[in-house]
Amino acid sequence: MNTDCIDPIVGGILAGWRYDISGIAAAMRGDYEDHLATCEHCRARQRFHRRIDIGLLVLTSLSAAVFMGAFVAIWYFATHFGLRHSFAFELLAAGGFGISVAMAIMVGITTPAPLVVKRAARQKARLVHDRLPEEIRSRIPEEVRARIAGEPPQ
Ligand SMILES: [Zn+2]
Repeated sequence: MNTDCIDPIVGGILAGWRYDISGIAAAMRGDYEDHLATCEHCRARQRFHRRIDIGLLVLTSLSAAVFMGAFVAIWYFATHFGLRHSFAFELLAAGGFGISVAMAIMVGITTPAPLVVKRAARQKARLVHDRLPEEIRSRIPEEVRARIAGEPPQ
C-alpha cells in the first residue's frame, strides 16, 4: 500500500528527522504528533525507520558478541594448544569488538532505538505482571510496580 503524505511540508520536516520526534520539546511536538496520527504515509515511514534502528542495534550488538566469542576462543586455544600467530588474531577480534561496541553506542545515541526497546520491554513486563497471581503480585516492591506501570516512583 502506498498512500501520499497529506501535508508534504510537515511530512518533509518529519522525513528530515527520520520521523523521530522523541528529541523535540513536548510543547513543539503536538503538530507532528497530530500529523503522524492522521497521515498513514508518515506513520508507515516512521514504523519502517524504527525497524531499521532496532535492526542496526541488534546487528551491532550481535557483531560485538561474535567478536567477543572469537577473542575468547582464540585465547583459549592459544593458551591450551599453543596456537601460532594468536596475538594477531586476538588483536583483530578485540578490534572488531571495539568497533562493534562503538557502532552500537552510535546507533543508541543517534536513533530512538533504546527508547523503543525500553517501551517494548516495559509493555512485556506489564503483560507478565498482569498474569501473575495476586499473592505474588503483592510481594513485588512498590518501586518496581510503578516502573512497570510507567509512572514515576513517588
Ligand atoms: Zn505525512
